Amino acid sequence: MIRGHEAVQALFREALRHGRLAHAYLLVGKPGIGKRLLARELAQALNCERPGYPPDGACLSCRKIRDLNHPDVIEVEAETKTLKVDQVRELCAQLRYRPFEGRTKVAVLAEAERMNAAAMNALLKTLEEPPPDTVLVLTALSLESLLPTVISRCQVVRVQPLPTAVVEEMVMEQMKVERSEARLLAVLSEGSLGKALSLDREFFLEGRRQIISRFLKLPAGAATAILDYAEELARLREDPEEVMDVFQSLYRDLLLFKEGIASTIHTDLAPAVQAAAEATSPEAILTGLERIERARRRLRQNANPRLTLAALTLALKGVPGASLESP
Ligand SMILES: [Zn+2]
Repeated sequence: MIRGHEAVQALFREALRHGRLAHAYLLVGKPGIGKRLLARELAQALNCERPGYPPDGACLSCRKIRDLNHPDVIEVEAETKTLKVDQVRELCAQLRYRPFEGRTKVAVLAEAERMNAAAMNALLKTLEEPPPDTVLVLTALSLESLLPTVISRCQVVRVQPLPTAVVEEMVMEQMKVERSEARLLAVLSEGSLGKALSLDREFFLEGRRQIISRFLKLPAGAATAILDYAEELARLREDPEEVMDVFQSLYRDLLLFKEGIASTIHTDLAPAVQAAAEATSPEAILTGLERIERARRRLRQNANPRLTLAALTLALKGVPGASLESP
């Protein structure tokens, strides 16, 4: 059963009920939020022995689709970084045949942004005139790298990140962890169950605690101590974005405290976080969040992690002249 995507499910349900299903959908949203599951659920509904939406999930057809074992539901994903033209051609060739076992053929093309231009062009004709009883569902992280001709032939459906509470519940169920730990992972994952499940738990439980408690204890303006700390941070993780996740969660907690809401993330550090919140102005917290976001963007653009972390911690700790623009 899919949780947290009621809006998309309602859209599919209404389209089915009124016989207005598009020939091609493009599900766009962050990784790990369930786009492919939604595509599969639509495929189930189109072939379920008891028509309607949501599908029963229990009949032979639904189970075959769930197990990726249904001859009329074809899923394609990139075998390497690029989804190649041959894969698309093969998919289009398979779609020329009538449904073999079910009522509707469904092609799920995951991570469509990985198609190169040749692959996208090969898909255009099928997108424009799909064979009868065929539905295509493309998923993508963003529209940016897709040809406008591909986008315009699909009904674009924005898939939102999952609500934190939903991720929390699912993490508890799937990882068998305590609620406080599940909540921490859920908040850090920003609505992506996939990310929550793949986070390094040890780092985000123990490492996070150390990063934050040491950060809070650093005296403001003590440039040398702050730089030593930043140096350690840079060595700590291969992926400096994880350190950004920790800082972001801290500043979000500070903001919540300012609004009179007790910490929901760093419950194990609540007294220290609360004291820091009391000592910091709301403006400084907001500026801090902006700085963290900017540092994250710079890291994604391959900025030097050591310099970026040093500039960020100096700026957050109020060292005059520290700026992310000139680390
Ligand atoms: Zn069924």
